[in-house]
Amino acid sequence: MANYNRRDFAKLVILGGIGYTIFSCVDDPKKDKTAKEVEETAPKMPELLPENIKIFQKADEEYQDLTIRFNKRIQQAPTFIAQCFNTKGVVDAILFAKFKDLKVVVKSGGHSFEGFSNTNDGLVIDVSAMKKMQWNDDHSVTVETGCILKELYDEMLPKQRILPSGSCATVGIAGLTLGGGYGFFSRKYGLTCDSLQEITMVDGNGNIHHESGNSAILKACKGGGNGNFGIVTKMKFRTYQAPKFFQTYRCKAYKLTTERAKSLLKMWFQYTKKLPNTAFSAFVLNGKTLTILITNYATDNKGVMKMYNALKAVSDKATIGSKRPLQKALKTFYGVQHPIYFKNACAGLYKDYTEIEGCMDDVISKVISSRGLIYQVNTLGGNINSSSAEKRSVFPHRSYPYLSELQSYWDKPSQEASRLKAFQEVQDRFYKHGIRAHYRNYPDINFKDFETSYYGKYLPELKAIKQQLDPENRIQHPQSISV
Ligand SMILES: Cc1cc2nc3c(=O)[nH]c(=O)nc-3n(C[C@H](O)[C@H](O)[C@H](O)COP(=O)(O)OP(=O)(O)OC[C@H]3O[C@@H](n4cnc5c(N)ncnc54)[C@H](O)[C@@H]3O)c2cc1C
Repeated sequence: MANYNRRDFAKLVILGGIGYTIFSCVDDPKKDKTAKEVEETAPKMPELLPENIKIFQKADEEYQDLTIRFNKRIQQAPTFIAQCFNTKGVVDAILFAKFKDLKVVVKSGGHSFEGFSNTNDGLVIDVSAMKKMQWNDDHSVTVETGCILKELYDEMLPKQRILPSGSCATVGIAGLTLGGGYGFFSRKYGLTCDSLQEITMVDGNGNIHHESGNSAILKACKGGGNGNFGIVTKMKFRTYQAPKFFQTYRCKAYKLTTERAKSLLKMWFQYTKKLPNTAFSAFVLNGKTLTILITNYATDNKGVMKMYNALKAVSDKATIGSKRPLQKALKTFYGVQHPIYFKNACAGLYKDYTEIEGCMDDVISKVISSRGLIYQVNTLGGNINSSSAEKRSVFPHRSYPYLSELQSYWDKPSQEASRLKAFQEVQDRFYKHGIRAHYRNYPDINFKDFETSYYGKYLPELKAIKQQLDPENRIQHPQSISV
């Protein structure tokens, strides 16, 4: 850690001041300003108190650990890492970035598919140590943005409360909510961002905003807030009564041909249309093996059984899990909790099967014949498609009841090139077929029209917020909203 004391700061300010003075000699626009005016408007080095913020550089012992992200494929080495402990620390981090003229990326849970919470040459503002949670009288909960999902579930489930959110234990609540956020409870209670009631955010100038109600900034953070114009430090969420149990239904099919996989997919689309809102389903084609998952938490399971029985009749194996207590059941979906090599991305949001029918021969035969490719389609729909939620957020894809993802995982870097090649071939096929709507939280660095794909009709609104909160474009990553 670069342990700065007050004398060091003074030195840095002076050095910064010298740099600034030399720069200003050759910078024409400033020549009309008085020396005093230049000094007053020049960025100042903030006082970095260790209870608010610690700054690390490559030589520091803590630096390596702080550069670890969930995706081992993307290794980056920032110039500075600001580990923040509260909102004041984040303000100081932004002022530090302004003083040093650094670009900023934001890190909470570190699960960005494409490494957007790390950088090679700027400042990482890392809020992952900020983990306070506080319950309010109305069952809402205010959390700092370093919290990860399993910490939230550990806090909420013993109190019989839930937040509709994702399933993977180590995903950050911040990144997930700011891009939308969906999971097992979303068809009933909406996206995670629909439960977001208030935020505290530090903008690209270092100003603090407390936003609630009909605020345009809060709206922009519900689907459009990932590392675009501010660093969210606190989130207040509405919570819901947790269901008593959770049940899973699985149908499996092996050694699939393209024809059989296609016919099962078509059938899956047909039956998921009628699923109750308490249910969720995923069609997971992993090479030649298919798993269809259905989950439910309502006592009445008639709707679910109809789908299960129809699919069971054409599957190789089908099982119904017992009714398990929610906390225990959710843990079985926590997934891998350590960094891995992978490439995942959205493979489109769809209205129904007809939208993809024309490219399914190519897509499925590629998935079946390539090592390590997984094609998955998940149900959205239900109360995600709500007009009141639409008005309060910038998530543009509510009318799409299906969200798909392409995934590939491997063990050694030597496997990367062939995996990425096959992956891209499938993505190209979807693009050629006209699939354009994509989920911001499942980014692909190769998406050609990523801004409209992620934000649709809300892009102009988001650009206006960016202009208002971060006109210098200090906060940016390879797919952030441009000024
Ligand atoms: C294994 C796995 C499982 C997943 N499961 C689900 C799921 O069930 N449902 C779902 O909806 N999504 C899921 N996702 C996607 C997930 O929502 C995104 O990857 C999300 O962006 C991760 O957030 P993070 O805080 O962990 O990541 P980070 O890498 O820290 O951040 C992700 C993005 O958000 C920005 N960001 C982070 N914190 C802040 C902040 N405080 N203020 C402003 N911007 C910030 C970053 O700049 C970056 O662009 C999953 C991802 C993985 C890897």
